[in-house]
Amino acid sequence: MKIGFFGLGNMGGPMASNLARAGHELTGYDPVGTTAEGVVAAQSATEAVAGQDVVITMLPNGKILRDVYDEIVGHGAQGALFVDCSTVDVDSALHAHARARAAGIDSLDAPVSGGISGAAAGTLTFMVGGDATAYARAVPLFDIMGQKAVHCGADGTGQAAKICNNMILGISMIGVCEAFALADRLGLDRQKMFDVASTSSGSCWALNSYCPAPGVGPKSPADNGYNPGFAAELMLKDLMLSQAAAEVVNAPTPLGAAAAAFYQAFVDHGGRGRDFSAVLPRLTEMKRGEEP
Ligand code: NAD
Repeated sequence: MKIGFFGLGNMGGPMASNLARAGHELTGYDPVGTTAEGVVAAQSATEAVAGQDVVITMLPNGKILRDVYDEIVGHGAQGALFVDCSTVDVDSALHAHARARAAGIDSLDAPVSGGISGAAAGTLTFMVGGDATAYARAVPLFDIMGQKAVHCGADGTGQAAKICNNMILGISMIGVCEAFALADRLGLDRQKMFDVASTSSGSCWALNSYCPAPGVGPKSPADNGYNPGFAAELMLKDLMLSQAAAEVVNAPTPLGAAAAAFYQAFVDHGGRGRDFSAVLPRLTEMKRGEEP
C-alpha cells in the first residue's frame, strides 16, 4: 500500500519504519525534519497525503491533530483510509472523524499502548474506534505495527479505552508506591511485601509487571534509575484527558482526579523526565500531608 505518515517522533518513526520494512511504500512528514529508516521524506503536508491509500497520524496532542486534519483531508484520495494513532481528547478524535467523513474518507481513532519499545519491536496494542469496514481495512497494518488490536466500537471509543485504561494505571501505580513507602516505615522488607502482595488480592500490573521498587520483581525502569519507560508527564497528559472526558459526560472519578493532581504536583516538583514509577522514591522522602 501507499502510506502517508505524519509525525515521525519517538513512536511514529519506528512505526513507519516497520511498515516500510514489511514492504509498504512510505512517505513521511514531520515539520522538524525528522526522518525514519525506509521512509521517503515529503517537503509538505499536502505532498504526504496526495494519492495515498492510507494516511496515519502519530501527533503530540488534539489541537495539532485538528489542525493537521483541517489541512490535509481535502487533499486525500477518495476512498482513502485515515488512521489516527495519537493519544488525544475524545472531542478532537470526533472532530477528525467528522472532517474525514465529510470528505468521503474512512477514518479510525487507534491509540496505542506499549510505549517506545513496543513501537520499535512492532508489539503495540491498538484500541480502535470507527466503522467495522474501516477497521477491517486497517487490521493488516495493525498486525505489522502491533501484536494485538481491539475494535472498541463507534468513533471515539478507541480514545475512550485508552484514557480509561491509563486512569486505572495511574491510580494503581500511586497505590502500589504508597504501599511500598508505608511498608518501609513499618519495617516490612520490600521483597517480602512483593512476595505477598503480587500473589494476593493486591496484585496488579503496576506491581507484578512494572514493580516500582528497584531490585524487586521483574526488570523495570526502577532498575534503570527511573529513566523512562513511560515518563511522568505522559501519564499526567493521559490523566488530564480522562478528567476532561469525565467532565464532559458528568462522570464521577474521585480517584482519577486525585491521581491527576498528584502527578501534576510530582511533575512540577522534579518528576518531569522521570519514569512515572519514580513516585516511590518521592513518597519515601515525604511526610504525611506533604505535597508530592
Ligand atoms: P514525539 O513528540 O516524540 O513525536 C511527535 C512528532 O509529531 C514530533 O516529531 C513532532 O515534530 C511531530 N509533529 C508535530 N506537529 C506536526 C504536524 N503538524 N505534522 C506532522 N508532524 C508533526 O511524541 P511520541 O512519544 O512519538 O508520541 C506521539 C503520540 O503517541 C502522543 O499522542 C503520545 O501521547 C502517544 N503515545 C506515546 C507513548 C510513549 O511512550 N512515547 C506511548 C503511547 C502513546
